[in-house]
Amino acid sequence: MSIKLKTFLTLILVFVITACAGQARVSSTSQSPTPGTSSTETPTSEPTLAATNGPPPASFDSEILRGGIDPVAYIDDSCQYLQKRWDPALSAPGTVVATVMYHSIVPGSSEPTTPEQINADTFYAIVELAEQLGFETITTEEYLAFLDDNSKIPARSMLPILDDRRPGTAAEYFLPVNERNGWTTTLAWIIGDSDQRDGELAGETLWEWIERIYATGYFDVQSHGLNHIYLNESMTEEVVREEIEGSIQILIDHFGQRPVAYIWPGGNYTDFGVEIAREAGYELGFTVHSRGPVMFNWIPQGEQEREIGDPLMTLPRFWDSAAVLNLEQTAEIGDAARQFAEANYEAEADWFAANCGGALAPLDAVLRSTE
Ligand SMILES: [Zn+2]
Repeated sequence: MSIKLKTFLTLILVFVITACAGQARVSSTSQSPTPGTSSTETPTSEPTLAATNGPPPASFDSEILRGGIDPVAYIDDSCQYLQKRWDPALSAPGTVVATVMYHSIVPGSSEPTTPEQINADTFYAIVELAEQLGFETITTEEYLAFLDDNSKIPARSMLPILDDRRPGTAAEYFLPVNERNGWTTTLAWIIGDSDQRDGELAGETLWEWIERIYATGYFDVQSHGLNHIYLNESMTEEVVREEIEGSIQILIDHFGQRPVAYIWPGGNYTDFGVEIAREAGYELGFTVHSRGPVMFNWIPQGEQEREIGDPLMTLPRFWDSAAVLNLEQTAEIGDAARQFAEANYEAEADWFAANCGGALAPLDAVLRSTE
């Protein structure tokens, strides 16, 4: 985390503590019972005030997450978070996103030879289960809007990301499924020597091939580096900058779309890399850590990502080889989070009324919006 950001967060914290202390003083002088009053005559507002002057009500946790993985919040302003969490026009509490990382797919039921491969049977099992459980795909832009503002996305959302340069896999496996379901797939594209490689058709370059696939409208292209360099702490600033910034204009030139996500090559991110990626305008970063599904202001992270202190730049991805189990867990966590939210609504609404001014939308309006 940058020093500037740390200072800013510290200031916010000091402000929150001061603000809360101020409020507590005001309520205790104006509402404290007269000495000698018996406990049965204590004003009924006392217990509520005591509860709402503290920190916001507890947030959801899931036992399905492995040990050492904790959900991390990234919105500092609890009032803003609660307002968006309960806005009937936005995503309902319990809306979950499963990001799934894909590499190559070997035919039929043939045995994969590396941990990064799956076979076609597994690919179709993932698709079938996702359809059964009611998952719909989202694009990276939709994911970003959901994370930032709780923008409306399907209650069970999936973000499939196909890494490296695999137009053949995109066309053979993903495209037909996307056409059938109206889904999309995100391509984590490496620039590298794309201009020197052959495409599929005679005389076609690799660029032309992927542009042809992109033109179907079922794909979204994000950055996977200029040369797929795995970052480490000892690299020079020049190398890191070139690798992270270098792909942006090239992707705009080929797809007319500025990338918002950086998919860390090899899953390698560093403090400095995150700083440079932010500076370059990326708003999301994807790791290869399988930590769990993501919800609004709720990102499961291990110690390694927590140390970086920028949850949106170190997002988790499920591995395709375990995605069948992970999609079931995602649905389960979403359901549990929704039940928790309903049970916690009153506490959150009371806290909001006491600390933020105004009132949250009524619970039944929020529930109705999801029917
Ligand atoms: Zn890669």
